[in-house]
Amino acid sequence: IIRETGLQPFLKADKEIILRYQRKHAVEQALLMALENESLEVYYQPVVDMQTERVISMEALVRLRDEKLGFIPPDEFVSIAEKNGSVVMLDEQVFEKVCRFLREQILNNHGLGIKDVHVNISVIFFMQNDMSKKILDIMERYGIPAEYITLEVTERAAATAPEMMEKHMETLAAEGISFALDDYGTGNSNCSYLINYPFDKVKFDKTMVWSYFTSKTGKIILDNEVNTIHELHIPIIAEGVETKEQMERLKRLKVEYIQGYYYAKPMPQKEFLEFVREKNQLHERNEETE
Ligand code: C2E
Ligand code: MG
Ligand code: MG
Ligand code: MG
Repeated sequence: IIRETGLQPFLKADKEIILRYQRKHAVEQALLMALENESLEVYYQPVVDMQTERVISMEALVRLRDEKLGFIPPDEFVSIAEKNGSVVMLDEQVFEKVCRFLREQILNNHGLGIKDVHVNISVIFFMQNDMSKKILDIMERYGIPAEYITLEVTERAAATAPEMMEKHMETLAAEGISFALDDYGTGNSNCSYLINYPFDKVKFDKTMVWSYFTSKTGKIILDNEVNTIHELHIPIIAEGVETKEQMERLKRLKVEYIQGYYYAKPMPQKEFLEFVREKNQLHERNEETE
């Protein structure tokens, strides 16, 4: 009957839709359960200063592992969390875990050479009236000086909720918290936002970094962006750097900071600490013998 009525292609499409829906539903359940149990994990990826070649900063990246589904990438569950609103809880829980790590393992260890930690904040969290208060309360609870915190936002926040964004940025910046414009070069962020909002750093998205090495247009675009941003006296972090050659090219362009698999992937706390100790202290030893 199906073949006769020509319904088969539609049924096939339906099957895909159902599978996609089931996956989405399962991921959503896994996420809500992790939020309920406060079992989301936070990994840390080092950011290296090109002048000293030391780990100067780190980005906190959320990780969700489910018994049945295994490891679920944040690009998949963060957008679900933004749609159902649970991203507010997610960002809060991540931020609290970051502050605890910072207090117990970094600040109580004389900083290990680390100047700040970058934490991603969703536009949805920015749209909450009490967002800045929640951030400041958590920092106070763990005794975190504001200079150790950089919040990463995309221009989507400014485009979606300009008033809230301005209000929270003003409050938090007045306390000494820094801001980085994330996803720069993806169409999600551009230069006009650097002029209108007080961003302290810009993060080049990995897609823009990779285009630099694969296309002529990509090269022209990145060269131009570096010039413009440096004219505004804003330092750049290039993300997605995977090879020595890429690192050296960007260093020659005077990109200040590099983050990428070339140095390290995002790691659990313990491995991250080992990596930093090794990289930052190795250097101290070299300097002593020089
Ligand atoms: P993002 O903030 O732009 O983070 C950078 C992403 O690039 C991370 O992916 C990181 O693992 C990846 N990356 C860094 N260097 C390299 C490299 O050399 N090669 C490759 N292939 N990838 C590299 P991840 O951890 O999967 O996170 C994806 C996105 O999920 C983040 O993009 C961010 O938008 C979002 N996200 C992660 N954690 C949080 C969070 O706590 N809250 C919110 N709201 N969003 C988060
Ligand atoms: Mg980020
Ligand atoms: Mg980024
Ligand atoms: Mg991104």
